[in-house]
Amino acid sequence: MISLDLFAVILLGVWGCCVGSFLNVVIYRVPEGLSVVSPPSRCPTCEKKLKWFDNVPVLGWLWLRGKCRFCKAPISGQYPLVELTTGVLFAGLTWVYYFTGLRPVFAETGVLWSWPVLAVHLCLLACMIAATVIDAKLYIIPLGITWTASVVALFQPAAVLIGLVGESAGNIGRWWGSLIPVTDMAGTYLAMGAGFGLLVSLLLLKTGAIPLSFAEEPELPEGVDPDDPNLILVHPHPRREVMKEALFLLPVVVFGGLAWWFMGQPFGKVVGLGALPEDPLVLRSFGGVLLGYLVGGGVVWFIRIFGTLLFGKEAMGLGDVHLMAAVGAVIGWRDATLAFFVAPFIGILVVLVTTGVSAVLKGKTRVIPYGPSLCAATLIVMVFRNEIWAYLMPGLG
Ligand SMILES: [Zn+2]
Repeated sequence: MISLDLFAVILLGVWGCCVGSFLNVVIYRVPEGLSVVSPPSRCPTCEKKLKWFDNVPVLGWLWLRGKCRFCKAPISGQYPLVELTTGVLFAGLTWVYYFTGLRPVFAETGVLWSWPVLAVHLCLLACMIAATVIDAKLYIIPLGITWTASVVALFQPAAVLIGLVGESAGNIGRWWGSLIPVTDMAGTYLAMGAGFGLLVSLLLLKTGAIPLSFAEEPELPEGVDPDDPNLILVHPHPRREVMKEALFLLPVVVFGGLAWWFMGQPFGKVVGLGALPEDPLVLRSFGGVLLGYLVGGGVVWFIRIFGTLLFGKEAMGLGDVHLMAAVGAVIGWRDATLAFFVAPFIGILVVLVTTGVSAVLKGKTRVIPYGPSLCAATLIVMVFRNEIWAYLMPGLG
């Protein structure tokens, strides 16, 4: 008799390979603006529909020996690689959560009482795998992918609301080692005020009251390839453009600050709004997800604006902002911020590996997409967050 948790590891490994198969479709079609549901998979060369058993993850590619059944055109090894990677990471993360002691809150609650959180984390993982491959190849992160993870993150407060996780989740209310992102009431008011400010900004952007940044294409010098990824660095007025983004963020900061001050603390504390009689965990976990979304994205955006003003070159992409917003919504603002500061170390490794040490020493660098480093850092934080926090802030254990 194997335990439910071990059964989950095995099942999710197989399920992960199938999810990887879907991610291949996402990676191939989403940047082209095509539907991910129809038409069914076909050979990109001869356009014949694949047989259902050729679609079996990893194995299908192996028994076709990497060639199309009909026209014998080679099929990219990226397909089985993405499938296998997704399967291994799904099983691996589940195993880490329930069998290693690295995430004791998961191990204590077991799959039966923490599966909604595990499901949200695995969804983020799948989105990060797709974002990593697309960003590495095309230097973009499609927003449909990051929004999917952000919306799915709301399943966490929903699971609290319908009682799927809650009392049984142990120390769910404490931020240290807690299962889902939670904040206090002041944080919840702050998040809701800032969220309202974001809606105001979007409305002002829609009506044209706030200008869209980097809207017009910069004029290119003669003989420059318009598809060169290095071009994102040559906009003539990056400082002016990024100030438009600072303007966009102003209502978010103002409304967030006002809500925190008047309803949270210190003012809200005085008039009694800051402390509600019953501890509203559902509200505070919703606040935790919203705050994670806003701070996760906000930290990247702040560094983008600050870096662009400082260096006069566009720093970080808005895709990275959306990515870390999604990460924050899933794992909370503290862990997302931590991941953001782990990412540069991975970025340096990526540069050294992809361009070679000698090229870096000679100063021959090129644009490296940052999304993959952010995703890898996020995965590292998901696995080792207790260890890292215990090291950084020893008093919290
Ligand atoms: Zn073919």
